[in-house]
Amino acid sequence: MENKEKGFRIAVLSGKGGTGKTLVSVNLAALQADSAYVDCDVEEPNGHLYFPMEKEAKTQVYSPIPQVNDDLCNGCRECVDFCRFYALAYINEKVKVFENICHSCLGCGLVCPTNAITFNNSTVGTVSTGKHQGIHVYSGSLEIGKASGIPIIKELLKKSHKEKRLVMTDCPPGSACIVMESIKDADYCVLVAEPTIFGAHNLALVHELVSLFHIPYGVVLNKCTDSKNPSEKYCEENKIPILAKLDFDPELGKLNSDGKIVVWEKEEYRTIFEEMASRIAKEVGHETVVGIER
Ligand code: SF4
Ligand code: SF4
Repeated sequence: MENKEKGFRIAVLSGKGGTGKTLVSVNLAALQADSAYVDCDVEEPNGHLYFPMEKEAKTQVYSPIPQVNDDLCNGCRECVDFCRFYALAYINEKVKVFENICHSCLGCGLVCPTNAITFNNSTVGTVSTGKHQGIHVYSGSLEIGKASGIPIIKELLKKSHKEKRLVMTDCPPGSACIVMESIKDADYCVLVAEPTIFGAHNLALVHELVSLFHIPYGVVLNKCTDSKNPSEKYCEENKIPILAKLDFDPELGKLNSDGKIVVWEKEEYRTIFEEMASRIAKEVGHETVVGIER
């Protein structure tokens, strides 16, 4: 891998779940013996199924949740009006906090004119770290019912930032603010898209998002067949580099759904992913980004 001093961060994203984002990120990470893989899909983390951790270390992640002192509250409802997540309500002359939909923005505390609001830390999930066959693995998990995984992603990024190696970030699906958090420090973004009209629509959403960040990017077209590929057409029309085209292959689907790393299982896929890595390297102007060292 080039640039060991600072590391190189590649974020893999897609407009929706099930497009092959995790397939691409785990296999790119697996090409290199000492890379890091960060699973930021904290609502449905499944990277650990590909990279089960040896000596897993878990830490709790906390988030501030408002507590209202009824003796200080004058019932002005400024906090209720402020909260755009509807996590506060004024009921029976008291402010009620719906903890599970609070996004911990701290705003209600700032607008309260009587300083009736303070914040207590509440658990939102966990971050796990460990290694699998030399790959440094970071995985986050949001507790069921909690509103926002952003504190967990921040913790994952903080921990993985110390890595002076190739870091593959497997982002949450979609194009919401939680995805922005995952890609904002990336050196390069890989967008994964399916060959359908919906695939092209979802690709357009993530394309719009990465364009805002001015990070170089390219597309991996997954599940390709001989039929028309609206996502490929979108790339051509918008002059987006196509890093690779993965054909629809039931065997690949089976290996992947069994939690197998296809570049370790089949030479044919190793070659495809190595070419994808070379293409990324070319796009960012490095000789090698994802090394071919394993
Ligand atoms: S911290 Fe933010 S999200 Fe939570 S209740 Fe207050 S205003 Fe709403
Ligand atoms: S802003 Fe403060 S004083 Fe006003 S209702 Fe909310 S907690 Fe009470």
